[in-house]
Amino acid sequence: MRTALPTPTFDPDQVAEAEGIDVTYWGELPSLGLYLRVGGQGFIALHRELQQDKGLRRVVLAHELGHHMLHVGVFAERFACGPKQYWATLRTSHVEMQAERWAAERLVPVTLIHEMCMRCCQIGPEQITELAELTDVPESFLTWWLEDLRDRGVLGVSSSPHG
Ligand SMILES: [Zn+2]
Repeated sequence: MRTALPTPTFDPDQVAEAEGIDVTYWGELPSLGLYLRVGGQGFIALHRELQQDKGLRRVVLAHELGHHMLHVGVFAERFACGPKQYWATLRTSHVEMQAERWAAERLVPVTLIHEMCMRCCQIGPEQITELAELTDVPESFLTWWLEDLRDRGVLGVSSSPHG
């Protein structure tokens, strides 16, 4: 029997609490999540629907935390983040990409993906399912993250044109 892959320990709720961020649910939110900062205090609003989707909630909460950690003092405006499966379509904003990668690196660390690669020699649909269950995120998010890592040469075989 093979040994289990290490379970990532990142818990966005714990991080939000440690940062003193109020996390609330809004039913009328035009997006899945929203981050704003007022007088140094961070607020995160999540769409009420996310209460029924634990995996997606983890991703959106971590994404909003990314704005909190990365974009302090950079933007005074609020971040309203994405329709459902926004990682598949919304790739036009630099700050949104930064927040999304911040979230992904913590929810699904590259070291974990490497370990899976070493074990299985490839990441196919089966491995995506296993990783998604282990890290408690939607498979579509994981698929985006793997593509993003491959596009940037973080994952996969890299070779120069001259070998
Ligand atoms: Zn965002």
